[in-house]
Amino acid sequence: MRTRSVSAPRLRHSSRSDLRSVLRMPSECCGIRERFVNKWFARHVEADHIGRVTGRSHLLIGGFAVLCAMRWHILSPEPLSVCTGLLGSLLPDIDTERSMLGSRLKFLSRFLAKTFGHRGLTHSGVMLLLAAAALNGLMGPESLRGPWGALLLGAGTHIAADLPTGGCQLFAPLSRSRLSLWPYVRTGGIGEIMLLVPILCLLGWAGFSGNGPVPGHVPPSAHHSRLRGHVLKDISFSS
Ligand SMILES: [Zn+2]
Repeated sequence: MRTRSVSAPRLRHSSRSDLRSVLRMPSECCGIRERFVNKWFARHVEADHIGRVTGRSHLLIGGFAVLCAMRWHILSPEPLSVCTGLLGSLLPDIDTERSMLGSRLKFLSRFLAKTFGHRGLTHSGVMLLLAAAALNGLMGPESLRGPWGALLLGAGTHIAADLPTGGCQLFAPLSRSRLSLWPYVRTGGIGEIMLLVPILCLLGWAGFSGNGPVPGHVPPSAHHSRLRGHVLKDISFSS
């Protein structure tokens, strides 16, 4: 009696045609077909889902944090700062090609993943502080209140949000040990949503319902511009 030997095709990155050929396999190859389909979904469907949900969560947290910082006069209210804040909230995940930003810059993300690993140097709080110090030294403290400061704040919220969702190398390059906070929440799961909702509620309450740092407080920059206006007005009246 002749037996038919069937083997599953090799799993490649872009394997839609492989999936189609496996699904056409005869019913006696049920085990092979099941294993292949599971692998295919793990690699293509679930990976994409995790990347998308995580990116969206980081954008929401980063965007809310930047608006909150503007409300509290930590950042100056500029539309560009909102854009850079959102970019910063995605920037640390450039070290994986499964992320929103990394999937668009695959060459760079593969290089970073190979050199530092995922959630390595790009997720370091030490590097963030060094970047803030460099900005302060090169462009002055006012630069930290503008779009550059918003970029760093966005990246900071990303790192903070990654701590309970698997952790990251917070003290890289000083230490390569991964720091993670309890409870251990899986990205892309119900745990992420349970973490995201209270954070957004808290940021939303602080940003939109609070009274700001001091009721009636005028930020120094606004005070100076108002003072300059008065001086110019007085000069024009006297002459
Ligand atoms: Zn991350």
